[in-house]
Parts: sequence; structure tokens; C-alpha cells
Amino acid sequence: MEFRTLRSEVRGPRSIISQTRSSITLCLLLAASFSGCTAVRHAPIAGDRTTDLARALNDGHARSVILLIGDGLGDSEITIARNYQVGAAGRLALDTLPFTGEYTTYVVQEANPALPDYVGDSAATATAWATGHKTSHARLSTTPQTDEPLKTLLELAQEKGLRTGNVTTAELTDATPAALNAHINHRNCEGPADMAPCPKYKKSAGGPGSIAEQTVDHHVDVLLGGGRSRFEQTIDGGPYAGQTVIQSAIAQGYTVIGLAPALSAMQPGGMLLGLFASGDMGLEWRGEPAKRYPGSGPQRCVEGVRPPSEPSLAVMTRKAIELLDHDARRGFFLQVEGAAIDKRDHAADPCGQIGETVAFDAAVQVALEYAATHADTLVVVTGDHAHTSQIIPAPQPKDHSPGVFSTLITADGANMTLQYATNLPGRSQEHTGTQIHIAAQGPQAANVVGVTDQTALFALIARALSLEAHRAT
Ligand code: MG
Ligand code: ZN
Repeated sequence: MEFRTLRSEVRGPRSIISQTRSSITLCLLLAASFSGCTAVRHAPIAGDRTTDLARALNDGHARSVILLIGDGLGDSEITIARNYQVGAAGRLALDTLPFTGEYTTYVVQEANPALPDYVGDSAATATAWATGHKTSHARLSTTPQTDEPLKTLLELAQEKGLRTGNVTTAELTDATPAALNAHINHRNCEGPADMAPCPKYKKSAGGPGSIAEQTVDHHVDVLLGGGRSRFEQTIDGGPYAGQTVIQSAIAQGYTVIGLAPALSAMQPGGMLLGLFASGDMGLEWRGEPAKRYPGSGPQRCVEGVRPPSEPSLAVMTRKAIELLDHDARRGFFLQVEGAAIDKRDHAADPCGQIGETVAFDAAVQVALEYAATHADTLVVVTGDHAHTSQIIPAPQPKDHSPGVFSTLITADGANMTLQYATNLPGRSQEHTGTQIHIAAQGPQAANVVGVTDQTALFALIARALSLEAHRAT
């Protein structure tokens, strides 16, 4: 594989510099060093892109698919990260894919699956893109009411002989990765000791076990993320009863690692389970959480706070691709989740949220660099549901919402005020129900254009990989 060095710090300004007058260039350079900038800046005027888009059209077959999911990555979260990191006229890596659209993310009500629930959770929304079927809150790749398992993209890819990978900054048993390799009626049933909401799924009851057990039993080739404590729990039935999930993984052929240096030393071949944190993996950035009026800030975030023992999402993505791609006869299906965008949005923690979005964007850049030399790769970048953060005018003494605020100093050298107001201050902020962004390049990528539904992403990937299911969709 030929990967170039990541240069995300110059990506946005450089793309603009090539298209703008020198005075604006100077202004951008000044802004980048936070020396202030008084000139009015304008985004570059786009030329006629018809030929470029026509050239990017590809209705062919994909050898491999890299699906990058930003949990809670709505249009607000993208714009906030862009403004902060590369300025309003800059562009992130995820902004550069040729085809974009919006997709709807509603789920269905458990009590009456004929009715929509307009605000989804990550389990039901992941079930939609992973299986092509809508389900109700907290369910993972099972039908509402009836608990029927729904076949997933990862399972179909395995049946086709593709190698598979699942990477996240959350616990590997968290909803987004879990939807690909577990079928269970409640997302909280993460380890064998967590099975109170799912008694019939216990191995001792003849079921397939917790999410951790099902993840290992699925023999996914590359599993990287957090959640070690779930895999340290003891299995209560079946051939590995009395052993931990980690012990059962080793018995089934997995190499199990827990530190970043071990990941970089891994060579292709065999199955890999990387568990780099007891729970969720560490955050990239920190800063002042949002507060009641007048809010926190103005602030710049503190970067580089991730523990050195933990690999970044970009490093995990690069390694996963390297490990999955070693067999020239077989393509792969890889899911990469930036999980804590959502978690820091819930916590009204703007620096945490932006840092995770920037880290997710670095993983997108890794995928795009791979695709640059592997044109038969479909790359899809999207979220699972919208979230709470909003860019608002500076709150005024008489005019401000009852929510919490924080003002960030962006790469433009300007103030950007964010508001979190979907719950009471101090409580977990809520998901929201708007349609969200989807972007793609490679075979079948143009099918993201327009307003589609989250379930159509399943069909798109199944068609691109010529999976068995695409004939029925
Ligand atoms: Mg998630
Ligand atoms: Zn959430």
C-alpha cells in the first residue's frame, strides 16, 4: 500500500490558496496563525464541474468498501468542525468526495412498527444501514416485536468470501459496530454479565450470547476499538462455558492485543482483536464544556490528550486496511466509526466533539489515500443520526435560549458560538431527527445523490459488492 503522510493541517487553506487572489491568500495565512484578518473572505467560486462529475461516475463493481460512520455526525457537527479547524471557507477531507446527498434516518416504533419514530438511536439507525430494514430503538439487526435476525452487510460480505473489519473509538460492543456482527433485542447486552434485558439470548439459555460473544463468534478478521471489560466477562454456556470471551477468541484463532505498539507491529494473516481501552477509547481534545448564559469561552481547545497507549482512529483505519488488503484475490468490507462525536455532543463538550470530528476526518483521509491507488474501492462517509449542537448568533442578555453555550475561536480567528439546548443544562443532550449528509466516491457512489433513506445505503453497498442480497433490493 502506498500511503502519503497525513497533512490535514494544510488541507483546507491549500485548496483555497490555489483558487483565490493573493490578498485573500495572505489573509488566510494570517488567520491560520491567529494574527487577525480584516479582509472579507469569500469561498472560491466553483467552476463548471460537469466533466469532473461525469468522470467520477462509475456504475461498476467494487472490490472493497470502506464505510465511515460518524456517530451523531449531522450537518451541524460537520460545519462546526470545519469552521474551527480549517475555517469557514476551508474544506475537510470528508468535504472532497464527489457525490453527496442527504438521507433520512427515522426509525420505527416498537409498539407499532407501522409508525415512524422520528428521532433514532444508534442501534436502530445502524440496523437500517447494516441490514436495509428499519427497526425500533435499542435493537441490533433484529425485527421490531418479533426478534427475527436480519442479515447484515458484514455477514453477506463474509458469505461472498470477502475479508471483513470493524473499527471504532467506542467499545466494540457499542451499537454502531455491534449492528454488523450481532443480532439481539437490546444494545445494552454487551457482555455475558450484561444480559438482564436479553435473557433468551444468553448462551446458557441456548441463545447466541452477548454482543461480545457474537462479535468473536462471527470471526470478523479485524476488530479494533475499546470495551475490553466486556470481553473479560465469563461465558455462561456453550463450548467455551467458564472461559472469558477473550479466552474464547484466542481458542478460535484470534490474536488479542491491547496497546498501540502491538498494533503497529501486526503483520497480515490470521484474525485480530485489538482492545485498547477498558471502556470507550480516550478523547483526542479537551476544553471547557458549554455552560448557561453567557456560556464558556471564548476558547481554543487543548489538543493531543489521547493516551499514548491508544492508537488514533486514523492509525487503526490504516492498519485495518493494510491487514485486510494483503490477499490480492479477495476484497474487503471495512466499517470505521468515529463514535465519540455523539458522546461529546450528549455531554455538551464542544472541544471533545470537534476533536473527535477532526480525528474522524483524518480516518476519512486515510481511506481516500487508499482509494487513490485502488479505484475499485467504494468509500462512503456519513453519520447515523443528527445531534444537538447548533451554531447560533452570540447570545444576548435579553435574548438567549435556556440551553448551554460555548464560544470557540476558529481557524478564521473569529468567534463561533455553539448552543446545546435539547435537554436541561447538566443532563444528556438529545439526538435530533433531521436528515443528514452522505458522501461517496468509487463504484456505485452516485447513488447517494438526492434525498435517499438510510436503508438505501445497505442496497447501495450490496449492489457495489455484488452481494447475494442485492438481487432482492
Ligand atoms: Mg456509535
Ligand atoms: Zn447518542
